[in-house]
Amino acid sequence: MFDATDTIVAVATPPGRGGIGIVRLSGPKAVTVARALSDAPRDLEPRRATLTRVCATEGAIDRVLVTSFPAPHSYTGEDVVEISAHGSPVLLQQIVASAMQAGARLAEPGEFTLRAYLHGQLDLIQAEAVRDLVDAVTPAQARAAFDQLEGTLTEQIRAIDRRLFDLIALLEASLDFPGEGYHFVDTETAARDLDDIRAQIEALLKDAERGRLIRDGLHVVIAGRPNTGKSSLFNRLAGTGRAIVTDVPGTTRDLVTEVIDIHGIPVTLVDTAGVRQHPSDAIEAEGIARAAGARQVAALMLIVLDGAMPLTADDRALLEETARSSRVVIVNKIDLPSAWTADEIAPDAIGVSARTGEGFDLLRDEMLRAVHAAPVDREVPAITNTRHVDLLKHASMHLARAADATRDSVPEEFALADVHEARAVLEEITGRRDADAIVHAIFENFCIGK
Ligand code: GDP
Repeated sequence: MFDATDTIVAVATPPGRGGIGIVRLSGPKAVTVARALSDAPRDLEPRRATLTRVCATEGAIDRVLVTSFPAPHSYTGEDVVEISAHGSPVLLQQIVASAMQAGARLAEPGEFTLRAYLHGQLDLIQAEAVRDLVDAVTPAQARAAFDQLEGTLTEQIRAIDRRLFDLIALLEASLDFPGEGYHFVDTETAARDLDDIRAQIEALLKDAERGRLIRDGLHVVIAGRPNTGKSSLFNRLAGTGRAIVTDVPGTTRDLVTEVIDIHGIPVTLVDTAGVRQHPSDAIEAEGIARAAGARQVAALMLIVLDGAMPLTADDRALLEETARSSRVVIVNKIDLPSAWTADEIAPDAIGVSARTGEGFDLLRDEMLRAVHAAPVDREVPAITNTRHVDLLKHASMHLARAADATRDSVPEEFALADVHEARAVLEEITGRRDADAIVHAIFENFCIGK
């Protein structure tokens, strides 16, 4: 299914202009292709940057540094050549086109990392970590991804797997010599071992929800009647002037989003169109419909009320509609004289002023508290990826069943089948057991050049 016999090429740096842009080649012809399009010497010294010229059909087009990483000591495990040119998108595309003329093929998204995985340079956890590291928008995300790239999680899973392997050996030995009158492991010891290994998995899972929040973040929708100050609040939280602030009710017609970092958790803020029962035109109605859609997928809602104006039927309807959702009720404009007291209507409301910034520290804390998320300290959880969480839960379930079977003195075959299953599941996490569909799904989400 995966072909890694040809030579691939792609721009490895982000689209757009930069001081330097890197074109990466990987495969058996990497050096041949690099030499075909540059004046690089035949014997490129491994891992040493060589200053040379790169040529297209019209002659030399740039001065570049060419670095060769011969197999297997490269990112992909194949011959790799990196060409560092000046970071003009046109120039980089010309270099890629010349490389293709010289026999390279344009890389698919994630294909460099896929090849690293196929050649055993990385396991699946580490390959996913590369993607997470590249995609990280908060320092905590980057730290968690880097830990996984360093193999911290891989090592913990291998340790669990080794214990299962040893236990299987003992159980199978008992099976192989049933008539000898002794067991290589007594049932109570086996069951206790299984419990113990399962506890190791559960310890990893304990922090997984926090890990998921760090990696996938939190979707927060700001809702409220027009003019309560949603856009101002959004801007104050985002620290930018992105959403349009106006005095005319009902002008936020589209959804504006921004990702912000609240105590290490990436929070996607969505500013929605004003909630009004009677939209004044079709565009506003469309905006309101989108807002309703966004509210349904949000993990948390910020309900904004105007403290300086009497509550309206729309406010009350919104409070009622969201009473059972995760929400933080906000009374905005506390810099103005208040028109009502929160006590009777929204006793747990947070008072803020989007104008002065008062109350925002408390608001940020409250947002995490409402979804039971703790601020991220230096320690980041080992598990952040839901694929890993699901598989670990699966493994844990098999081990619980195996322990029960052992205690109930059900024949060893049954317990063994579950322990084997648990190992198979662990191998799916690291990718040691080939599952093309999973591998495909993971690498599909990479960007080209990674
Ligand atoms: P939206 O329609 O809910 O998005 O509300 P806007 O953010 O556009 O704000 C509506 C009006 O209220 C604007 O004139 C803002 O300047 C004003 N406003 C927003 N927040 C505050 C606040 O905390 N204090 C005061 N005094 N005015 C505010």
